[in-house]
Amino acid sequence: MTAPDALVIGAGLSGLACARHLRRHDLRVQVLDASDRVGGRVRTESVDGFRLDRGFQVLLTAYPQAQLELDYEALNLHPFYDGALVRYGGRFHRVADPFRHPLDAPKTLLSPVGSPADKLRVARMRARLTRDTIPGIMDRPERTALAALRERWGFSSSMIDRFFRPFFGGVFFDRSLEASSRMFEFLFKMFAEGRTVLPAGGIDQIPTQMCAHLPDDAIRLNTSVEGVDDQTVTLASGETLQAPAVVVATAAPEADQLIGDVSPVQGQSTVCLYYAAPESPLDDPILVLNGDGVGPINNVVVPSDVAPGYAPDDRALVGAVVVGEAVEDDAQLERAVREQLIDWFGLEAGGWDHLRTMHIPYALPDQSPPFLSPPERDVRRRPGLYVCGDHRRNGSLNGAMASGRAAARAVLEDRSK
Ligand SMILES: Cc1cc2nc3c(=O)[nH]c(=O)nc-3n(C[C@H](O)[C@H](O)[C@H](O)COP(=O)(O)OP(=O)(O)OC[C@H]3O[C@@H](n4cnc5c(N)ncnc54)[C@H](O)[C@@H]3O)c2cc1C
Repeated sequence: MTAPDALVIGAGLSGLACARHLRRHDLRVQVLDASDRVGGRVRTESVDGFRLDRGFQVLLTAYPQAQLELDYEALNLHPFYDGALVRYGGRFHRVADPFRHPLDAPKTLLSPVGSPADKLRVARMRARLTRDTIPGIMDRPERTALAALRERWGFSSSMIDRFFRPFFGGVFFDRSLEASSRMFEFLFKMFAEGRTVLPAGGIDQIPTQMCAHLPDDAIRLNTSVEGVDDQTVTLASGETLQAPAVVVATAAPEADQLIGDVSPVQGQSTVCLYYAAPESPLDDPILVLNGDGVGPINNVVVPSDVAPGYAPDDRALVGAVVVGEAVEDDAQLERAVREQLIDWFGLEAGGWDHLRTMHIPYALPDQSPPFLSPPERDVRRRPGLYVCGDHRRNGSLNGAMASGRAAARAVLEDRSK
């Protein structure tokens, strides 16, 4: 490529969104990524015909940035059942979104997951948050999600412990629900306003689609950046590159190493164990939550029930999600997870083949308050140097894309001065 107008360090969703936006304005962009493929944290491994997302993750179709960036139809999206099966007291209890699954509303009302008053509170919160705008949500005083659930929305401890703790604990990778109330309310709105989906070909179809719009030579993989100094970027190989605009689009810890003063560098971790089963243990494409709070598993998902392409014909892919970094070694953790799967799904689970244990030490930035005060952190370090990534907005596909676009807008603004 002839000398680029912009160098983007990182081909995660933020870097790709930034590069695409700059390309649309006819800038020559060079994206550099240390990894062997695009997508950053959005990655899928192929193992024996199964598609294993690197940590269970989902797209919420209501995400406004995803609506701008992605061609949903081409992604061939498959929805989850809107609700969950909560494992509590030795049984599974169905909690459905009554607006989407009205026939399951009586079961939901009668389930021991929260009182009838809690279920009315869910309906009230849903009505309120779907009416509120995203800026309106971001304007309300920020506290922890737990404090908002208790004090703002009035939920009982049993509803929080049996439903919100495993559900949003799995979303934030933090069962203490210390994440920002603004993030909780934003995500609740997104879950309520759209569908929760997986692309037929795996979650990595999202970055694959995003980079299809970039010229072939716009992305250099296996290219680690070691330093950024003014407009010069030094690669691990010693090669140097220069451009009038440099955009650091890595996760916060790496961005902090490259340019300093990026926070928060702490993050949340998770472990995902995948199993191949002869058939699904579930009847619906539904998320299973640990409402007892006992055992290593926070939630179980069968991605092949949602999108059949996740497993070869006549097999099912089961994922067990552990929140936080496991204290046990892999063999001990697998034994403990297996025991819990047998307890939940019967002795058949003892015969499932263990495919992989995936450790994700940094899945999301630490989103505890004051993470979203202000809701948008500056992407311009100075004219010529920009920083984007989920840590500039919020820990989500939407937040990463939004930050990338914002950085691109800042580059374009500075060029026009
Ligand atoms: C297990 C898991 C589950 C999740 N679940 C969901 C979910 O259900 N819904 C949702 O909306 N979000 C979810 N997320 C969050 C979402 O995936 C991230 O917020 C988003 O992908 C972050 O994108 P990013 O571009 O900010 O950073 P990254 O994806 O981390 O991209 C940064 C890129 O920079 C590269 N890089 C780093 N250092 C260097 C260097 N020195 N030189 C060159 N390249 C470098 C990396 O290789 C990487 O490709 C989940 C994340 C994980 C990990």
